[in-house]
Amino acid sequence: MQYHVISLENNEIKCSDGPEGVREFLEDLFYLKFDFNPMLQDNDESGELEVYLHTDTYDECGEEQLNKLDELGITECDSLQTICNLLGIKIDKFSKDEIASCTVCKTSYHENEINMVDYDVDVCTTCEPAYKTSV
Ligand SMILES: [Zn+2]
Repeated sequence: MQYHVISLENNEIKCSDGPEGVREFLEDLFYLKFDFNPMLQDNDESGELEVYLHTDTYDECGEEQLNKLDELGITECDSLQTICNLLGIKIDKFSKDEIASCTVCKTSYHENEINMVDYDVDVCTTCEPAYKTSV
């Protein structure tokens, strides 16, 4: 199953990958924001992606970092929603056919975010106001 990591800010698809790739991407985002690297574990055997703390984290991270994870609410139970909230993203799953790219900014979005009707090119909702006045 393929999942998409989508920015809540502008609906940009930041990463499309299987459970492992998405989990690694979340680890990278987490590191950029919190400056340390807990080990996470992914699982989608139930058909829904779950991401939670890998038990090795307790060996890898110091007490201060473990306290921080506790404070943030990231645990050995499914913490994907908590992680998403912290990172300003959401996870969605849809087929590759539904991904479209904006001709102007070259960014990937779900096709609903892209106007493919009114112009010669495909324009995302972010670029559209400026594009509209330029044609
Ligand atoms: Zn665009």
